[in-house]
Amino acid sequence: MSGEAEAAPFRHVALIGLGLIASSMAHAIRATWPEVRITGYARSAETRETAREVGFCNAVTESAPEAVAGADLIVLAVPVGAMGGVAAEIAPHLAPGAVLTDVGSVKQAVIEAVAPHVPEGVAFVPGHPLAGTEHSGPRSGFATLFQNRWWLLTPPEGTDPEAVARLTALVRGMGANVETMEPAHHDLVLAVTSHTPHLIAYTMVGVADHLRRVTDEEVIKYSAAGFRDFTRIAASDPTMWRDVFLTNREATLDILGRFTEELFVLQRAIRMGDGQQLHDYFTRTRAIRRGIIEAGQDTAAPDFGRGAPDQRR
Ligand code: NAP
Repeated sequence: MSGEAEAAPFRHVALIGLGLIASSMAHAIRATWPEVRITGYARSAETRETAREVGFCNAVTESAPEAVAGADLIVLAVPVGAMGGVAAEIAPHLAPGAVLTDVGSVKQAVIEAVAPHVPEGVAFVPGHPLAGTEHSGPRSGFATLFQNRWWLLTPPEGTDPEAVARLTALVRGMGANVETMEPAHHDLVLAVTSHTPHLIAYTMVGVADHLRRVTDEEVIKYSAAGFRDFTRIAASDPTMWRDVFLTNREATLDILGRFTEELFVLQRAIRMGDGQQLHDYFTRTRAIRRGIIEAGQDTAAPDFGRGAPDQRR
């Protein structure tokens, strides 16, 4: 995507799972290195057929082992709970010298599920692109999804540095920035920045839904940007998010506990009419938002610069 990319770090990329992340990777890799061969496999015949129609793979195969045959990079892009089973299925078919990665939103559980299956001579470099939308499936991908976003790598100690360097080059070629991190630290950070906020959004939309008497009219008609953003987040893929909470259990429960305590503090301030405490709290959170914008992680434009929904990509 950079326009000045170096030689492709891999010649044959196999994508297992053909949803939002895998299809976006295929589009992004092709935009930078059209010569890279991309093969893919997904569980259902319907998804495989759609992927063939969209045409982001050179070949969509009828089995996972066929897709990985001869690949020098294999990407596991299935829900976190499916990673172990897929790894077991493809392990005997991985070429010596190949690099195996995944894009799962949780890292410790994926490493525990996948690492035992990785054969000698294959380097496993777990990863997680911090980029996504509420859409899923093979039609939802687009080449710029990873542009200027972080892609975290969590290689276990002793991972071949050359494998990490090659994957880093690929990720940079797709427009993302790379950082390496301990898996446990990754899971805690993501519990704060992504997993718990998603749970809160799911809850808030659930609460609004329970107010049946207003749901049909006021809640939707007058939904301000805040609630609309909750509904967008709460439209995210149920399977993916079920697996995130089941596998990042400890960290999410830790952050949720802290969240509940803070909520009680604010609830009490409201009940006691403590305007000073509310004002101080909101002043602190406003400064955090400013910090995010200054760090280049978001835009200060109204509505996050999104524009109308159909202009968002
Ligand atoms: P998605 O659009 O729902 O796609 C998931 C794909 O995995 C589908 O092609 C599905 O095939 C396939 N699949 C599911 N189980 C499988 C199995 N046992 N064997 C083979 N294929 C299987 O999901 P996604 O958003 O791309 O997410 C993929 C991974 O990326 C997840 O681990 C998620 O945590 C991570 N991630 C997601 C986001 C995000 O915002 N979406 C961001 C960063 C990371 P069928 O359609 O045939 O079921």
